Amino acid sequence: MLMTQQQALEVLASHRGDNIVVTTMSSVGIWPQFSDSPLDFAYIPSAMGHAPGLGLGLALAQKKHGIIVVNGDGCMLMNLGSLVTLTQNPANVYLVILENGLYEVTGGQKVAGAGRTDFAQIARGAGIQRVYDCDTLAGWQDASAQVLSGLGPVVVCLKVEGRIGQKTPKAPRPMREQIARLKEALHIPCS
Ligand SMILES: [Mg+2]
Repeated sequence: MLMTQQQALEVLASHRGDNIVVTTMSSVGIWPQFSDSPLDFAYIPSAMGHAPGLGLGLALAQKKHGIIVVNGDGCMLMNLGSLVTLTQNPANVYLVILENGLYEVTGGQKVAGAGRTDFAQIARGAGIQRVYDCDTLAGWQDASAQVLSGLGPVVVCLKVEGRIGQKTPKAPRPMREQIARLKEALHIPCS
């Protein structure tokens, strides 16, 4: 049985440590059930495809915190090149791909290649050394501590249940406030 996105993110929350967590699209609406840390960043609106780049930038700009990026399969398809970019600038980025086969927040359309495209293989082909694939909740529970520690880049593909009838979630606070909060947590002067 596939894990739900709630289950996948609950496991993630229990092992995130002091990593920054960047959520996108569906995960933006779920993550606040498990965390409200200044090191959380809801990258919405208009973020589809760009979260790995943001995560890499944050990882290269400071070394204290690793960056967990929670992406969807639809988001990955919009910027597959980001997998190559992660190998060009090694940093502690942990890219979690929630594979539900759907564009949930735009009406539940099927993602191209759903059930056939193997994102783990694509990540390996891009040159990423640490790639994991978890099809069950038990598998993710067993692997999560290892996946979310050590040197990045890391890619983990999680097969999760799709949900129909979702709307685009809202960030828990306005973007300006989120940026100020994250900067304060990272001791970056606000301008
Ligand atoms: Mg999806």
